[in-house]
Amino acid sequence: MSGSRRTTTRIPGDRPEVPRELVLRARRIDRSLQKAYPDAHCALDFQSPLDLYVATVLSAQCTDERVNMVTPHLFARCRRPEDYLALGPAGLEEIIRSTGFFRAKARNILAGCQAILDRHDGELPRTMEELVKIPGCGRKTANVILGNAFGTPGITVDTHMGRIARRLEFTAEKDPVKVEAELQQLIPEQDWTMFSHRVISHGRAICDARKPLCSECPIRRDCPYPDTIDALPVAKAAKTAKTPKASSRANAQASTKTKKTSTAKASPTARTSKPGKRSSAAKTSKKATKAGKRTKKASA
Ligand code: SF4
Repeated sequence: MSGSRRTTTRIPGDRPEVPRELVLRARRIDRSLQKAYPDAHCALDFQSPLDLYVATVLSAQCTDERVNMVTPHLFARCRRPEDYLALGPAGLEEIIRSTGFFRAKARNILAGCQAILDRHDGELPRTMEELVKIPGCGRKTANVILGNAFGTPGITVDTHMGRIARRLEFTAEKDPVKVEAELQQLIPEQDWTMFSHRVISHGRAICDARKPLCSECPIRRDCPYPDTIDALPVAKAAKTAKTPKASSRANAQASTKTKKTSTAKASPTARTSKPGKRSSAAKTSKKATKAGKRTKKASA
């Protein structure tokens, strides 16, 4: 937004020294993401800072697409904080119901609008310090508003940003505020907002929480995480190796009677167990026997 007052959102307590290689790698990654996601932008539709505040509150535990389906109707009715207050809890809840947690969200939005009226003459404040005092507005929401409505750079640490920053080994922290502080040391301040959009786009398109598509990833070359993924075939192989043992259950069943008798004798717990179920003590004893056999084979 032109003519907006630029105030830094840098978190105090910066790391004294950041390895140069890490900084260079972070900037290389950001350049690659810039090429991969040239149109990255705030996914929430809004026309005013107040719209963005409301949309961001609604986006908690909800997709941006769903929020964007709800907000046109809402924003058409509510342009000022007074409009939301006039709508009241029931009216607001009815409109935002499909975004989930609608009662809590309505409560926050109404309390936020009241605070904006009481303390800021109906205008959303433009500093992190003031924004985080508005109900429903945590540091993440404040960074979204500052970066996208007021042109003040901010790093938004949502679930995508936190996960990817850890996979890229930019940080080991889980606390979003600490993640933000560490990222601030790696990325130039003027790029914070766009860096956030690019990383969030990457998290949605490629670097999925459960199944990251590392083989298609534009920053794979600079990401240490695939080494962990590459270890997976070993794990898979170990899993597959277990399957034949499982399929040879039929053979094992032939001797089940004998084993049951022996485990029952070996463990008092086994005697009280339900028929057909092995007690944990029995399982342990079986594992120990197998391990013993393996050791014998190895030493032979
Ligand atoms: S290489 Fe894999 S883990 Fe690393 S950023 Fe790309 S998708 Fe994510």
